[in-house]
Amino acid sequence: MAAKRDYYDVLGVSREADESEIKKAFWKLAKQYHPDVNPGDKEAEEKFKEANEAYEVLSDSEKRANYDQYGHAGVDASAYDGFAGGAYNINLDDLFSSLFGSFGGFGGFGGFGSQQARRRTGPARGANLRYRMNLDFGEAAFGVEREISIRKADRCGKCGGKGTADGSDPAVCPVCNGTGQEHTQQQTLFGSMMTSRPCSRCGGSGQIIANPCPVCQGEGTVMRDKKLLVTVPAGINEGEMLTLRGEGEPGRNGGPFGDLFIQILIRPHPVFTREGNMTFCEVPITYAQAALGNEIDVPTIDGQYKYKLREGTQPGEIFTIRGKGIPYIGRPNVRGDHQFRVVLEVPRNLSQEQKELLRSFDALCSDQHYAKRRGFFERVRDTLKGNPSQ
Ligand SMILES: [Zn+2]
Ligand SMILES: [Zn+2]
Repeated sequence: MAAKRDYYDVLGVSREADESEIKKAFWKLAKQYHPDVNPGDKEAEEKFKEANEAYEVLSDSEKRANYDQYGHAGVDASAYDGFAGGAYNINLDDLFSSLFGSFGGFGGFGGFGSQQARRRTGPARGANLRYRMNLDFGEAAFGVEREISIRKADRCGKCGGKGTADGSDPAVCPVCNGTGQEHTQQQTLFGSMMTSRPCSRCGGSGQIIANPCPVCQGEGTVMRDKKLLVTVPAGINEGEMLTLRGEGEPGRNGGPFGDLFIQILIRPHPVFTREGNMTFCEVPITYAQAALGNEIDVPTIDGQYKYKLREGTQPGEIFTIRGKGIPYIGRPNVRGDHQFRVVLEVPRNLSQEQKELLRSFDALCSDQHYAKRRGFFERVRDTLKGNPSQ
């Protein structure tokens, strides 16, 4: 996984920052990068998620203490494994109401205030969800079908999401006329000031449900484990995201469902590593194989591949097998290359007989068999000659 930025750096606060500083810093970033404000902007989305993750940890004193002591390792695994409902699963409404309680109509938040008022009663898109999926190296390379189970709010089947016992439309709140907001005008030193707060009668929903649905208690949603069959395409890489449109949480007031984002994590392989669509491995070879240029078995993700070494192959040399790497997404017949590096293993625990043979072999060798060694000693000789102190 890519290295993570320090949470304090992410929010741009000092390690001594108090709760309100952290909240303020997060609010600023959230307002700037929220996906609803930057539709389709991947970078903003990443920034938003990063800030959200940092805030989730630093705003919780226990998690923050763990983070201060152990860094990302102290909070990461437990907080973000599997179904990470918290990370992306907030919309602007929830964000602002949780940060600031009731929503003021003050000038400073004006832009969002008006959006908020509109969202509260009009149809609102459901929250996006995020799920982390762990794949084996081979599953990522060749694709896989995976059934996952996610726990999420789903539209209530009994009332169709309306929240009423008989499935009829809820009544419009008579106090706020369905806007969800109550406005009061106050005369102040600075002139007339309009303040709005969530409606006292309907709590801001704009609707009154006299006879709530017995299944969802008027919420319109129920928590449910939903099984989904996810088709992971061949060639997917670490950190990439699959989007399942409409598999997020249901919208409010008839709004569309959010999306489900599946983030891909790949377990390390004992033999192969990967960069983009290329695969790599090391292959130990013997002195004789290198000198004679034998055919060796090279592991690839398809299995063993016979490769004829060149006579006089040197330790650490890298060879490429075309088209034996990872398929490109959507083009399963086009694949990256596989590279392997030969590691020369010098034999140990030789018997007397083996040592004798090796000695007689070495006696038969001369400078012409060892170009590098010859060049090296020539250079050393020249250096010594040129230095009068020697
Ligand atoms: Zn109301
Ligand atoms: Zn219901």
